[in-house]
Amino acid sequence: MKIILILLVPALLMCNFACFTPGAKDNESGSSSGNTRQTDTTKPVKTDSIKTNTTLNKYTDLNKDAFALHYDAIVIDTHNDILMPVFLEGADLNRNNPGTQSDLVKWKKGGLDVQMFSIYVPERYKSNHFSYVMKLIDKLEENQAEHPETFALCKNSEELQAALNSGKFCGLMGAEGGNMIEGSMENLETLYSRGVRYLGLTWNTSNAIAVSARDETERGKKGGLTDFGRDVVKRMNELGMMIDVSHLGETAFWEVAELSNAPIIASHSNTYSLCPHYRNLTDEQIKAIAKSGGYIGINFFYKFIDPNGNPGNIKSVQSKYRNGSSQFNDDDLVKFNEERYEYIQNNLSSSGTSIDMLIDHIDHIKNLVGVDYIGLGSDFDGSITTVNELYDATCYPIITKKLVERGYTEEDIRKILGGNFMRVFKQVCN
Ligand SMILES: [Zn+2]
Repeated sequence: MKIILILLVPALLMCNFACFTPGAKDNESGSSSGNTRQTDTTKPVKTDSIKTNTTLNKYTDLNKDAFALHYDAIVIDTHNDILMPVFLEGADLNRNNPGTQSDLVKWKKGGLDVQMFSIYVPERYKSNHFSYVMKLIDKLEENQAEHPETFALCKNSEELQAALNSGKFCGLMGAEGGNMIEGSMENLETLYSRGVRYLGLTWNTSNAIAVSARDETERGKKGGLTDFGRDVVKRMNELGMMIDVSHLGETAFWEVAELSNAPIIASHSNTYSLCPHYRNLTDEQIKAIAKSGGYIGINFFYKFIDPNGNPGNIKSVQSKYRNGSSQFNDDDLVKFNEERYEYIQNNLSSSGTSIDMLIDHIDHIKNLVGVDYIGLGSDFDGSITTVNELYDATCYPIITKKLVERGYTEEDIRKILGGNFMRVFKQVCN
């Protein structure tokens, strides 16, 4: 059955955040994603099938059908910062923005079915974190209410599956940085009641809950969870809210691992063994997350993948890939991906950081603890430069193709693309 996605009215434009100046995320990574105000490159995007995620061995020749498998599978991304350009720079969630890495048009083209939106408050608004968050959620809900036929904001796995069955694009909410609850358990409970289903206990800065990875590593800050932080972990367990340890200091991590009675997630982190950055997980941390039955969303940011990466080189390669791919017709997305992939293979560059290094991180986790704990947590639009081939959110299918080339089975790939997260989401949040 074909479903035409009616592109949504730019309801989020001209919102109440006009007083805020445009800017990148407070990320140590650097530059903004550029001008996001250009818009009207919109055209209808088609999806080819209803997603059921029940068929685990549908394809006999994955080399031939890698892209068909991608569009058949449920694909979930557990971390994306698009709400920042939407609310701070006037980007439109519903249109194909030249200046953003993601939006609804790119997600549909990239075969994404579920996006977990990062609810994040830039540090410069720290005097009113919680009210900022409430307005952010208001706006997302308004967008959903205006487009109930095509977009669903879900709070549990039953709602999620029902929305997927009806062919809708699904949004989930996760919060990044426990500073936003302003030391109040009541605020945590309000976040939950509004639909937020994970909380990253810290962002790069420490707060009333815990010490962050950056502060612990780069500034020698001591301490793990505070007393309040321990109460937050227990309350999140009671509420059915996932504890996100991306950005969390290692001392606090081990206290969470000890304290939590539910699976732990890292919504957007990679492996320290392959790229020793404070944002990445050591092998012992990966084993602890697996032991909890948890989940790790692989981050596309080159800094967490390649210790020697150079953003200028990557952007130059991406520009070539993006321009080269624009010549191919995308009415048939499988064919489009075959042509794009062939083009990329014929124009491989030794410069920049290849997606192969990202797949190495997936391999590392698989070899360490198995495939059941791996997913995708792109960090798109979080002021990041992604690896060469993943130049924007239309490029998720290239990951599936690479996994096939590495010998992953159809069942493995379906788990990585979305099945593993669905399992944890159902276990913790229902
Ligand atoms: Zn982050």
